[in-house]
Amino acid sequence: MSSHLQNPIFHDEILAREWFEARIWPNGPFCPHCGEAENVTRLNGKAHRPGVLQCNSCREQFTVTVNTVCERSKIPLTKWCMAIYLLNSSKKGMSALQMHRMMGGSYKTSWFMMHRIREAMNEGKLPGGLGGKNKVVEIDETYVGGKAKNRKNKIPPKAAVLALVERDGSVRSFHVPHVSAATLRPVIVANVNRASFLMTDEAPVYTGIGREFSAHGTVNHSAEEYVRRVFWHTNTVENYFSILKRGIVGIYHHVSETHLHRYGAEFDFRYNHRVGLGFTDMQRTEIAAAGIYGKRLTYRRAGEQPNL
Ligand SMILES: [Zn+2]
Repeated sequence: MSSHLQNPIFHDEILAREWFEARIWPNGPFCPHCGEAENVTRLNGKAHRPGVLQCNSCREQFTVTVNTVCERSKIPLTKWCMAIYLLNSSKKGMSALQMHRMMGGSYKTSWFMMHRIREAMNEGKLPGGLGGKNKVVEIDETYVGGKAKNRKNKIPPKAAVLALVERDGSVRSFHVPHVSAATLRPVIVANVNRASFLMTDEAPVYTGIGREFSAHGTVNHSAEEYVRRVFWHTNTVENYFSILKRGIVGIYHHVSETHLHRYGAEFDFRYNHRVGLGFTDMQRTEIAAAGIYGKRLTYRRAGEQPNL
């Protein structure tokens, strides 16, 4: 089996740049400063850095990484390609330590690259985008973290994660401060189409929220009616949580609350571009790469330094 890692975009800086340009400028280059798309000139020759273009409208120069999470990075684009591919082709994610071992460089660089890639994988959430008429949206909450391992006896509190999954469709996960109708309702009504059929467990927190949707089915987790009917279940959202938890426990060991939303974005992105929906690892990687545009992540925003 020929390895995807032999793909020349991971080894040739010019090809890597062209690959990013194809992702970010599918209809041709545009100026990231003023939006000009017609009147831009590629600057060739030894006098210019590779990949520089000139905007003839605002007169600014730019490359494909301006206004992206990779801006001002000294890391070669071949390494960015590789890191985006590795994070998108590993079902449960990849630790910064593993990334660092595979790619070289410093651990800190790998750690920060990975958070920037997660930012690229963070897709916008359009209001009411989940579910609809004759569609089932499964909702459940879980707790992650809270293990003392690797934490010098300091046990972080468990963090609550709410997931909304359209059956045969997409997931949206949210870090919520705690589980109550007051914290869950705004998220659910903002993201789920009111015509949807909601499926949850019997937790009282969902009773009132359920009345705001076209129908609401509940399953009793403790009883033998775990899967009461073919359609009456929350297996989809539980399956999502099982991937998330195996990833967080097995790969990331613990995730601090500061970064939890970024890991959520990572797991949501892979789930929403999964093989079952027809995406290959490379297609998922290409879509993630397109997401680097229009986002920035500084050390300050990343919240904290690596703790390994
Ligand atoms: Zn311009």
